[in-house]
Amino acid sequence: MKQLSELTFDNRFARLGDAFSTHVLPEPIAEPRLVVTSQAAMELLDLDPEEANTEVFAQIFAGHKLWSDAEPRAMVYSGHQFGGYTPRLGDGRGLLLGEVVNQAGEHWDLHLKGAGATPYSRMGDGRAVLRSSIREFLASEHLHALGIASSRALCVTGSSTPVWREKQETAAMVLRLAQSHIRFGHFEYFYYTQQHKLLEQLAEHVLHNHFEACLQEQAPYSAMFRQIVERTAEMIAYWQAYGFCHGVMNTDNMSILGITFDYGPYAFLDDFDAKHICNHSDDTGRYSFSNQVPIAQWNLAALGQALTPLAGVDELRASLELFLPLYQSHYLDLMRRRLGFTSAKDDDQALVQELLQLMQNSAIDYSLFFRELGESEPQAALARLRDDFTDLAGFDAWSQRYMDRDPLQGQSQQQRRERMHGVNPKFILRNYLAQQAIEAAEKGDYSVVRELHQVLSHPFAEQPGKERFAQRPPDWGKHLEISCSS
Ligand code: AMP
Ligand code: MG
Repeated sequence: MKQLSELTFDNRFARLGDAFSTHVLPEPIAEPRLVVTSQAAMELLDLDPEEANTEVFAQIFAGHKLWSDAEPRAMVYSGHQFGGYTPRLGDGRGLLLGEVVNQAGEHWDLHLKGAGATPYSRMGDGRAVLRSSIREFLASEHLHALGIASSRALCVTGSSTPVWREKQETAAMVLRLAQSHIRFGHFEYFYYTQQHKLLEQLAEHVLHNHFEACLQEQAPYSAMFRQIVERTAEMIAYWQAYGFCHGVMNTDNMSILGITFDYGPYAFLDDFDAKHICNHSDDTGRYSFSNQVPIAQWNLAALGQALTPLAGVDELRASLELFLPLYQSHYLDLMRRRLGFTSAKDDDQALVQELLQLMQNSAIDYSLFFRELGESEPQAALARLRDDFTDLAGFDAWSQRYMDRDPLQGQSQQQRRERMHGVNPKFILRNYLAQQAIEAAEKGDYSVVRELHQVLSHPFAEQPGKERFAQRPPDWGKHLEISCSS
């Protein structure tokens, strides 16, 4: 276990030089206070959990102090935002502080979000508000606990520094961890500025540090793209299977590692709604829940385009075509497990589709349905769930097909329950829960966000006494408009 001062840095991205990022020092926020910490994330850095109680911890993660080995950099990238190309974005309010190497030899980027203005801030103030920092923290750690690939979050620090959004709020910082902060948009930037030597340098960096196995392949860049397609397909399958809506799937918010990245006005579905739009500035529903699948493929095509100076177009296209079948097979696998099946049958896809249609028509709570389905004997569980459906004939027909599929799979109900509860969370990060935690934190009470974080870190466990976090949303919490400002 290490103290903060003992972290080992190896800043590979910084060494790429000034064409890729700019040296910028964090601009501290006033009267820093530690809002919440993730012990699981601290473990990634081999950090002693006691370190979170030291004064220097909050100071570092509020921009007041820095390791001498850190090399804070703002990265340059561009991206397609809502389908239109923005030629230059970059870290406008976050800094890559450096890369920490842990005992396992893994490199972890330390990225401080809300660290002040950079050359890429455009009209922005370089800050992040407490509200959005808490949302990013909770989601990062919760998705990870659900088994969904995600960037991680070490802590949130709050402050008294005023920030103007729709109203006056306070500045905060979130320390984000990921094995890389390189986005699709990094490649697009060097492609569209026609700096193909730098594009190649970036690709080499990614290949050597993140896709080493591809070096053995005949066409390493093509192989790397194929792996990015594969990882993205798997990530999107998890989003769709667990009802996660990202909200801002611009190419600058897509990680080349295929991890969920850059949390904004995201939402987990409460009632199932394939057309759900969680970002209320998304007027056309480009990033609606069901559109996440074609949009991910669209984003991969944008990345593929940016790689055309380095790899054969036919190979890139062939990899891109793998996306949908890969996605479908992962998704169906996950849904089978959620339904309690241990093997595949031909018409499983239809079984899933029909269930979703029934859920859509009756506004059924997406997460609780699966949890309750595993709770008791199949027939009894179905009988209990039946009350919530309006199309009773439809649900009865579906139930019959479900029963015909032998939901016990040759095991006891106890085994079925264990199996299903292991993949169907009891606790899910609903917007209203995040909202309650944020409102308390804005008043200086961090106990709610800390407790919620704890509960959501073990989403599949029963956690007696925490049932209030497993409820359907109250009426006020159902259609919350989450501000896109952050
Ligand atoms: P996001 O919507 O957070 O993914 O950000 C899109 C782009 O806008 C990125 O380049 C961000 O760095 C930048 N950005 C967002 N908010 C701010 C802000 N308050 N100050 C400066 N840049 C920002
Ligand atoms: Mg972003």
